[in-house]
Amino acid sequence: MFDEDEQLLIAHVRPSRTRRGRCGRCNRRCRGYDQGEGRRRWRALDLGVIQAVLEADALRVSCPEHGVVVAAVPWARHATGHTRAFDDTVAWLAVQCSKTAVTELMRIAWRTVGAIITRVSADIEAGVDRLAGLRRIGIDEISYKRGHRYLTVVVDHDARRLIWAAPGRDKATLNTFFDLLGPDRCAQITHVTADAADWIASVVVARCPEAVRCADAFHVVAWATDALDQVRRQAWNDARKLARTEPRRRVGRPAADAPARPGHERAKALKGARYALWKNPEDLTPNQTGMLAWIATTDPRLHRAYLLKEGLRHVFAVKGQAGKDALDRWLSWARRCQIPSFIDLARTITKHRGSIDAALDNNMSNALVESTNTKIRLLTRIAFGFKSPEALIALAMLSLGGHRPQLPGRDAHG
Ligand SMILES: [Zn+2]
Repeated sequence: MFDEDEQLLIAHVRPSRTRRGRCGRCNRRCRGYDQGEGRRRWRALDLGVIQAVLEADALRVSCPEHGVVVAAVPWARHATGHTRAFDDTVAWLAVQCSKTAVTELMRIAWRTVGAIITRVSADIEAGVDRLAGLRRIGIDEISYKRGHRYLTVVVDHDARRLIWAAPGRDKATLNTFFDLLGPDRCAQITHVTADAADWIASVVVARCPEAVRCADAFHVVAWATDALDQVRRQAWNDARKLARTEPRRRVGRPAADAPARPGHERAKALKGARYALWKNPEDLTPNQTGMLAWIATTDPRLHRAYLLKEGLRHVFAVKGQAGKDALDRWLSWARRCQIPSFIDLARTITKHRGSIDAALDNNMSNALVESTNTKIRLLTRIAFGFKSPEALIALAMLSLGGHRPQLPGRDAHG
């Protein structure tokens, strides 16, 4: 029936005889209770450009386990206002398209998308066992809400997927993962990679005492990048200090005989040098290569810090015994380099040498964690408008968990 006033296609439906009178929560056949609150509507997929809804009685039944509940309907998940096909389409779109594409195409708010993907993800989770046969896992923390909140995430290195995520970053949060895993499956874990956070290490030692603990190459190199950035900031501050002693200029093109202002120029260049210093040499643009050459000739100390960062990256690129030998050489170099941030880093690395060697020996390259990490960080930005961390986790699991949602009405090959 087409409603002219509402510009809405309304289909009046009811469950077939065998699907009637079932509990909305457990789907068990139950005694009828009453008429509930009368007719109800479920938003369905549009018919062309016309919005469509299904309309039906919302009878209630009396379930021995769940008490008086609204009866199950075959076209929708329990206690929702959208049909199952609508939900599944939104979930499929959410992992494939941009936020704007989903909300405009489906004509729903981003928060509604969050609620929908949370229930679709829960459905998928109920049907798969991600914790079966785990051997090598990675544990990490991810910040969201502009760094104010954290998720603890666990990835499966062998299946190359995200297997678990929960709000929080503390021992209690991580312990819920190992509780879920249970003692038998904990005992099967052979390798655990993680950054050097003490709370992760202490839980892993307690729950998987037999597992080899490996450092996360990604995090160790990130420490070096931080140490390098301290040196760059110091150089930049020095240049600005010098700039303050230089004459001011009026707005506009400086006169041909204006005095040179090396401090200003240096500060400006160093600010721009950040990416050249951070990037892997093979990814540098010609401009950035030129920037590094300029640093090499004008600031040997900053250039030395850059070489130290690259040296540490090299350790993880060669791995194995060669990597450990390279790390020995790197440490003796860093200890003597006279740059405080790298002397500190040498100390930290010595402290964590056991788990770093384990990572080099076991070839636990962190490419997977790094890429999962990058992808989740991207998702945390997309998921910013969600009310709950559950919606963010649902989006992450749907996208990176290895069981992507299917479009409704298609078989797996369709
Ligand atoms: Zn029930």
